[in-house]
Amino acid sequence: MRAEGFYLAPPILAPDAWDEYAPAERVIRWTEHHQQRRITTDPASQAGNLYARINHSRWVADCTCGSAQIVSPADPRMWCVVCGAGWWQLVFPADVAAVEESLAALPIIERNWWAEPDPVRPTLEV
Ligand SMILES: [Zn+2]
Repeated sequence: MRAEGFYLAPPILAPDAWDEYAPAERVIRWTEHHQQRRITTDPASQAGNLYARINHSRWVADCTCGSAQIVSPADPRMWCVVCGAGWWQLVFPADVAAVEESLAALPIIERNWWAEPDPVRPTLEV
């Protein structure tokens, strides 16, 4: 699951109403619609880099504020709709399809993946 497949236009709009928005911008439209508030972004506001990971078959990224969003390798950036820290640049694996394929046979709840250098990646080390 990627942002463009999750953050869909509401039923009151045509199904293709949000096709003009890049995947990272759809979460902003989606949040504005569902929370009935406006979100302003600033193209010059850069927050830094975050690793994308897979959680239950969804590509997600975790903001430093504790919020998370469904993201997309087709548009590797994220504006946190909770804290507005700025545009995060997302680090995806070089071969997204290979990572997705490595999880495809697992039940959805077990389709989890972290990049090796991701500091939140769980390990068995103590
Ligand atoms: Zn945030």
